[in-house]
Parts: sequence; C-alpha cells; structure tokens
Amino acid sequence: MVDLAELGWNIVLDSCFRQIHRAELVPARVTGKTRNSFPVIGEFGEKIAYISNRYFEKEVRDVKYPVVGDWVGINTGNNTIEAVLPRKSKISRQVSGGRGRYSGSQTVEQVVAANIDIVFITGSLDGSRSLNPGKIERYLALARASEASPVIILNKMDLCADLPEQINVVKQIAPAVPVLAVSATRAAGLERLKPYLIKGSTAVFLGSSGVGKSSVINALLGAERLKVSEVRETDFKGRHTTVGQELLMLPGGGNVIDTPGMRELQLWGDEEDLAGVFPDINLLAQGCRFRDCTHRSEPGCAVKQAIESGTLDIRRLENFRKLEREVQHLEARKNDFSKLEEKQKWKKISQWQKNFRRQKPE
Ligand code: GDP
Ligand code: ZN
Repeated sequence: MVDLAELGWNIVLDSCFRQIHRAELVPARVTGKTRNSFPVIGEFGEKIAYISNRYFEKEVRDVKYPVVGDWVGINTGNNTIEAVLPRKSKISRQVSGGRGRYSGSQTVEQVVAANIDIVFITGSLDGSRSLNPGKIERYLALARASEASPVIILNKMDLCADLPEQINVVKQIAPAVPVLAVSATRAAGLERLKPYLIKGSTAVFLGSSGVGKSSVINALLGAERLKVSEVRETDFKGRHTTVGQELLMLPGGGNVIDTPGMRELQLWGDEEDLAGVFPDINLLAQGCRFRDCTHRSEPGCAVKQAIESGTLDIRRLENFRKLEREVQHLEARKNDFSKLEEKQKWKKISQWQKNFRRQKPE
C-alpha cells in the first residue's frame, strides 16, 4: 500500500480534507495530466481520474483545475475528482496570448505545479553560462513567488577546473541560498541533495535545457526513468525529448515533479519578490533621501553612492532594473486584464465541461 505520508500527506491536509465532509471521497495526489484525465496516486495505488461535473457545479465560482502535485478528493466509485485541496505553494508561469481581440497582449497566471517544498535551480559548470547572474536572480524571484525554498545545484562539476571560484560567483548573487556542486553522470555529490529530499517533501528542478536536470533526476531514481538527450557539442544545448508531466517518488525519500511546462518558466512575481531577490539594493535604498528614489538622478541617492564607492556592482543595479521593468510590465498587464480574466474563466469552464462530456468514460 502506498504510504500517503511519503507523498507529502500531513495533518494540515488531513484537517482540510475532513472539512469537506464527504465520506465517499479518498485523498490522492495528482501525478500528471493528459488532455482530460489525471493520473493520481493514493492508498488505493495508481488510477486515472476525471474531473466531475459535480465539482464544477459546486465549485464553479472559484474553480481550481487540478495540476500535478495537487491533493484531490477522489470518488473511487467512478474515479472522479470532486475536490482540490488548498495549495501550500505553487509554481506559476505567465502565459501571453489568448484568442481574439486581446491576443498577445495579455498575460494570465498558469499554475504549473502545486505543493512544492524545494526549487532546485539547476545550472551547468560546462562553461555554457547556463546560470548567469541574471538567470539566477530570475529563478530566485520565481522560487520566492512560489513559497518554496530555493537551492542552487551546479551540475557537471566533472567539467569544471575552478569549482571554488564558480561557487563563489553564485554565492555572491545568492548569499543565503545553499549552493551544491554535483555531477549526475559520475554520480558525484548527489548525497548533498539528500537533506532536502526528506520523507514527504516535493522538489522541482528548474533550469535551462541541457544542464542535466533529467540526468540528476535519473541518478536520484537510480533508473533511466526520463529519456536523457544528447548534448550538441557546438553550443552546449541539449534537445529535450521528455514528454508528459510526472510526479515521481524517489527510492531514497522525497518526491520530484518534472514537467515540460517547468522547463521554460518565465517570471511571475511582484515587487515584493523583487525586493527579496535584491536585498542589498533594498537595504541601500532605505538610505536614499527620497522614499520613491529610482536611483537614477535623484540627489542623496545611497544606491548611486554605493556604486561610485565600489561597494555595489553596477551590473547588479542593471539586473535589478531589468527585472523591475518586467515586473512592472506584468503588473500593468495583470491589472488591465483582470476584468477580462473573469469572463475568460467562464469561457474556459464551459469548454472544459464540453470536453469532459465528450470524453467521459463509461
Ligand atoms: P536537461 O535538459 O536539463 O534535462 O539535461 P539532460 O539530463 O538531458 O542532460 C543533457 C546532457 O548533459 C546529456 O548529454 C547528459 O549526458 C549530459 N550531462 C548530464 N549531467 C552531466 C554531468 O554531470 N557531467 C557531464 N559531463 N555531462 C552531463
Ligand atoms: Zn536612490
């Protein structure tokens, strides 16, 4: 029998589940997603579940589509999902587009995975600059927005001649975040991940294609569970062949979610997350004469002063500005289209119901 605690079940979830007051439901965790169905795992083992019309009728005002990692209530009589439990964390990406008049100019939050404890931000030490400072800062912002804890993994340490130096570079950008060097193919340093992969925990791996995320996951699984692609020698870019989303239980404890949607995550955060990623600039800004100082030409700017005296790297301010622009842009879009979102949500729901009726299993 599957031990729910190993999948991450705990007393908080248990009490949420009890509040639903539905004796016919059992808890299960969503392990993937096809077009209309969801593989789930529970004490009953593995099953394919479907969204029930009943769920939509009851929860339609605040409907939550299950995503990989979600805890759901399953009616094992007809294999329907009839409840989605509250998420303690979620990884989201912003997707632009949509059909019709507003296509391309709107962004909506798309939840990629739920109930994540650890975000392994993965880079490669092969000299491909897969983890340049700008990228690390972005991934950190994303991790902070998700409520999960970030840990940086530097893979392919077998290809690195100046490891301490590389680790130092990363440490300077993210002083409070653990940095772990590993080599997936040599199975070296993987025990460094173990303290984060405790029983019931769930981790995701973020990072550019080709850095070795699948290889690390495979090494942890001890099996060729995900297809590892060949790296093109010329530009270090690996082409990815993995399809489908999966939540995998690791033999040594903990769970890993690996989804294609996670591979090219874009920033989804707010200004608060930004401050968390640039604590040094945030701290300096408190010494600026004006509270709304933009650190450009204002007199008495502590940030400019720090750059002039060499205590702050100008590149850091440039990265801050870049990210700040993106966040502001996103915020503006979010506000513009929040009205539209409601309308779209209803459209999406009716579409789902249509699909569901069409695909309903007998
Ligand atoms: P992903 O796109 O991040 O999932 O990367 P993959 O796991 O598909 O790996 C991309 C390429 O890097 C493959 O050719 C792997 O064999 C190679 N690779 C992965 N880990 C290591 C490592 O620790 N050292 C070396 N030298 N190559 C590695
Ligand atoms: Zn200033």
